[in-house]
Amino acid sequence: MIFFFPVILNDLFKSGRDYQWPKPCSCTRCSGIRLWGHGYVLACFDGFDAPLILKRYRCPDCGCIIRLRPKGYLKRFQASIEAIRSSIQSKVEKGKWIDGISRSRQQHWFKSLVKRIKAYLTDSWQQGILAGFDLFLKSGQIPVSRSI
Ligand SMILES: [Zn+2]
Repeated sequence: MIFFFPVILNDLFKSGRDYQWPKPCSCTRCSGIRLWGHGYVLACFDGFDAPLILKRYRCPDCGCIIRLRPKGYLKRFQASIEAIRSSIQSKVEKGKWIDGISRSRQQHWFKSLVKRIKAYLTDSWQQGILAGFDLFLKSGQIPVSRSI
C-alpha cells in the first residue's frame, strides 16, 4: 500500500530521517488504527544525486506495509508527473522531447502511453494522446506504466 503525502523533496533531502513524517490515520487495507514505524526505504528521484529516504509503517492487525511516497510522483517513477506530462505534451505539440531527461526514458513513457490508449480506450478515442494521459491519471492508473 502506498500513502501519498505532500512534501518538498529538498526538505526531505536535507532532513533525512529527521523529517517530520506524516502518519496515515488508519491502515488502508483493514482500517486498523495502530500503525507502527517499519523502517525506511531508499528511493531515487530526478534532480537528486543520492537516493532519498522514505518512511514505512506496518499495520500489526493485518501485516500490511504502508510506504510513504511524495505526492506528484507515480509509483516506481523517478520523474514527477508534471515532468512526464510535459514530455508527452512537447512530443504531441512540437514533435520533440523536453530537455534534461534522457530521450530513451521519454520514448518509453510515450510508447507505453500509446500502447495503453490502444488497449483501454475505444477505437473511437479522438481526444488525443495527452487527454488519454489525463484520463488515466484521473482514474487512478499509471498512464505510462509498461504493464498492460
Ligand atoms: Zn491493516
